[in-house]
Amino acid sequence: MTVYDYGIIGGGPAGYSAAIYAAKIGKSVVLFEKDKIGGTCLNRGCIPTKTFIHWADLYKEFKAGVKKELYRAPELGFSFEKISQEKDSVCNNMRNALELILKTLKINVIPYEADIIAPDKIIAGSQVYVCSKIITAIGAKPKCIKGLEFDNEFILSSDEVLNLKSLPKKVVILGSGAIGIEWARIFSAFDVDTIIVEAAQNLLPIADIEVSKRIARIFKQSGIKVFTGCSVISADKTKKTVTLSNGDVLETDILFAAAGRVKNEISNTYNSEIIGDCAGEIQLAHYASCQAKKIILGIPYNKDLIPSVVYGEPEIAWVGKREQDGEFKKVLLPITALGKAQCDNAKDGFIKILTEGDKIAGAHIISKEASALIQQIVIAMQNNIPISRLKEVCFAHPTYSEGIFEGLMRL
Ligand SMILES: Cc1cc2nc3c(=O)[nH]c(=O)nc-3n(C[C@H](O)[C@H](O)[C@H](O)COP(=O)(O)OP(=O)(O)OC[C@H]3O[C@@H](n4cnc5c(N)ncnc54)[C@H](O)[C@@H]3O)c2cc1C
Repeated sequence: MTVYDYGIIGGGPAGYSAAIYAAKIGKSVVLFEKDKIGGTCLNRGCIPTKTFIHWADLYKEFKAGVKKELYRAPELGFSFEKISQEKDSVCNNMRNALELILKTLKINVIPYEADIIAPDKIIAGSQVYVCSKIITAIGAKPKCIKGLEFDNEFILSSDEVLNLKSLPKKVVILGSGAIGIEWARIFSAFDVDTIIVEAAQNLLPIADIEVSKRIARIFKQSGIKVFTGCSVISADKTKKTVTLSNGDVLETDILFAAAGRVKNEISNTYNSEIIGDCAGEIQLAHYASCQAKKIILGIPYNKDLIPSVVYGEPEIAWVGKREQDGEFKKVLLPITALGKAQCDNAKDGFIKILTEGDKIAGAHIISKEASALIQQIVIAMQNNIPISRLKEVCFAHPTYSEGIFEGLMRL
């Protein structure tokens, strides 16, 4: 009987990364995936939403160009159906590429639901697999709110919203976490009347307080209506209305409920390693793959320095301490101070750096390319590079990176 070095349940970023790392160092691996390889990230999360975001942004930029009379496009429009097909094709291409990697590395992929029946045994499709080590990487699913159950018609989850055949005229989004913020900007860019309802006092409540406030301002300017300190208490599918805790009744074509994600369960995890979203910690794809890297290769990571990126318009990214976490010296550089931002017609945003002594304690960025900029800060923080040394670095011009340099020079 074959005894695998690793039995891995779940083919998302946590599971497939672990499988790839293990196979690359010569271990035998069996990987169980009951749905599609790539997990939430590739099929229902990061990749499909960012494809929508790309085309939504382009459309928005064209509209801005037409408004400035830079472009003539009297009938500027879009086909949501084709954009949706484009999203499917991006996901399919990436999944095919990933499946090929798994095949090339001779990872045995079993397309069934799996369960652990003993510390070294997994059952799937009525067959038992013996594995020296087992990794549970079964992910998470959209959180369902009592009384607002998903029906794939009026109340939609983040899985269901991806399969919309056409755009609604009006949408109410419940929750302003990363998923709510990203979809608010997608809908709004495609001219959908967008309302976002957040129970906390500020949008994107996990972010730095100044970031939350600036997003509220940016949303207002883009015509997105925001209700904070407020929740959706009921929904009427027939009347197509939702009632808020403040008594307001809003008409809407759909309610998109983006109130977080809950970890998937398995009957018994025995003593398996639990990684990724189902570990119930930081629910991000790059954190999932960092965990995989650590348990297979022993390469450590710093949990306090996991960057967060929210693909708002502009992008939002941060790492480390937030303003509300303590007393810090701070510098805030408006993005409009940068030549590159002026060239790009980028009107709003900032690079904010919090410091403690000669070290960066945290950074919060709202800007085009924030997703790339934050990585420079992560590398500096992880390596304890003093600000005085960072000032010696030459940053290219005209770039958004210069904003980091300018900010540091003002400290
Ligand atoms: C709309 C949306 C946008 C997102 N955007 C981002 C982003 O921009 N950046 C980012 O970092 N993160 C993003 N995320 C989060 C990211 O997708 C997750 O953090 C990541 O997918 C977690 O990886 P995972 O492997 O732990 O779980 P998953 O990707 O959920 O994979 C788990 C897999 O396990 C399988 N499975 C479950 N139970 C079993 C079983 N018993 N047997 C066999 N297979 C099983 C599932 O079918 C699934 O494929 C987003 C999520 C959503 C929903």
